[in-house]
Amino acid sequence: MIARAAAEELDRTDPLAGFTDRFVRPPGADRIYLNGNSLGPLPVVTVQRMASAIRDEWGYEQSDGWGRWLNISERVGDLLGRAALGAGPGQVVLGDSTSVQLYKAASMALDARPAAEAIVVDRGEFPTDRYVLEGLAASRGVELRYLDCDPLLGPQPEDIARSVASGDVALVCVSLVGYRSAAVADLGEITQLARHAGAFTLWDLSHAVGAIEMSLDGAGVDLAVGCTYKHLNGGPGAPAFLYVRREIQAGLRQPIQGWFGSRDLFTMGPTYEPADGVRRFLAGTPPVLALVAVEAALELLAEAGISRVQTRSRALTGLAIDLSDAWLAPRGVELGTPRDPARRGGHVALRHPHAETLCRRLHDAGVVADFRRPDVIRVGPALLATRFVEVWDAFDRLRRLATEPAVHPH
Ligand SMILES: *Cc1c(COP(=O)(O)O)cnc(C)c1O
Repeated sequence: MIARAAAEELDRTDPLAGFTDRFVRPPGADRIYLNGNSLGPLPVVTVQRMASAIRDEWGYEQSDGWGRWLNISERVGDLLGRAALGAGPGQVVLGDSTSVQLYKAASMALDARPAAEAIVVDRGEFPTDRYVLEGLAASRGVELRYLDCDPLLGPQPEDIARSVASGDVALVCVSLVGYRSAAVADLGEITQLARHAGAFTLWDLSHAVGAIEMSLDGAGVDLAVGCTYKHLNGGPGAPAFLYVRREIQAGLRQPIQGWFGSRDLFTMGPTYEPADGVRRFLAGTPPVLALVAVEAALELLAEAGISRVQTRSRALTGLAIDLSDAWLAPRGVELGTPRDPARRGGHVALRHPHAETLCRRLHDAGVVADFRRPDVIRVGPALLATRFVEVWDAFDRLRRLATEPAVHPH
C-alpha cells in the first residue's frame, strides 16, 4: 500500500519542486496532465517572451529585427546542445519538422555511401521515420532492412550487429527512447557497431531529449534529429533539430540547397556553394517566433539541469510503476516499460485489453494520458511540471476505473 502521504513527501523533498509553478495550468480545472511526452506544457515565461518578440521585435523593430534573428537557429542549437544533448557548439540547427530533418540527414548519409545497398530500421520504429526511410529507399533503389526487436526492450546491440554484418549498410536509424515502451537504446555501443561496419548512425531523439541525459559528442554519434515539442516544451509544431558531428560536416551535403545554407547569404551568386560549418544544413528562413518559444523553454531546462530532470523523471515514472504494481496489476494491467530506471525514458506504458475504453474514461475523469493501438496507455508526466501527488491521484482514479465491469477482463 502506497499512501498519498508518501507522494506528498516526495513533493516536499523534491529539489525541482519550484519548477512546477512555472507552467501554465488550465484555470479552475481539476485536471491532471500526463501527456508531457506528447506535447509538453506551456512555461509561463514563454508567454511573456513570445509577446515581447511579437510586439517589441516584429512590431517595433520590423525588418531591423533580422540583426538578431539571422542566427537564431544556430544560437538556439548551441543552447540545445549544451542544455540537453551533450554537444559542443556548432553542431546543431533547428527548423523544419522532425520528418524533414530525418529526410535531410538520411539523404546525406546515402549520398556519402554511394556503394552501400541498405538502410536499417526497427519495424516498431515511430511511423514517420519508417515512412520517410521507405520513400527514400525506394527512390534510391536501396533495400529498407527491418529489424524485429523485443517490443519491451527495443533494438539491442546484437540486433544491430546482425543487421550490419553483411557490410552493405549505409545507415542505421534508431530511436534513443522508444515512443511506445520508453525503452532506452545503447547510444555508444550501437553507434560504434554501426561505424565498424561502415554505416552512419542516425538517432531519433524525439522521446529522449529533455528526459534523459546524454552525450552525443562523447558517444561519437554521427547524425541525430528530434522534436522540441515533447519533453522540451517548445509548443505545438515547434521546429525540430538536426545534429551533425563536427568532424563529418565538411563531407556532407544536404539535399535542399537553400540560400540559408549557402556560403554567403547576401552575395546572391549564380550557383550554390554550401556554407562552412553547421549552417550548411539549413535550407530556408528560420521560424523565428517558434524558435523564441523553444529558446525560452530551453533556458528553463538549463536552469533545472538535465541531470536533475532525469533523476526526477525516474522518480515520477518509478512511482507510477509502483502504483501500477500495487493497484493495477491485480486488475489485469501489465507493465510495457522496462523496470530498470536506467533503461527507461520519461513515460510509462500500461497494457490492458480494454486500454482504449480505459483511456477514454480516464480522460472523462480529468486525467489526460494517451492511447496507442492496440492495447497501450502511455502515462507521461510533464517532467518539470507534474507533481508526485498528481501521479498518485491519477492512478487512484485509474484503479477505480479498472475495476468497472466493462474494462475488467474477468
Ligand atoms: C514525435 C516524433 C516524431 C515527430 O515527427 P514530426 O515530423 O515532427 O511530426 C518523429 N519521430 C519520433 C520518434 C517521434 O517520437
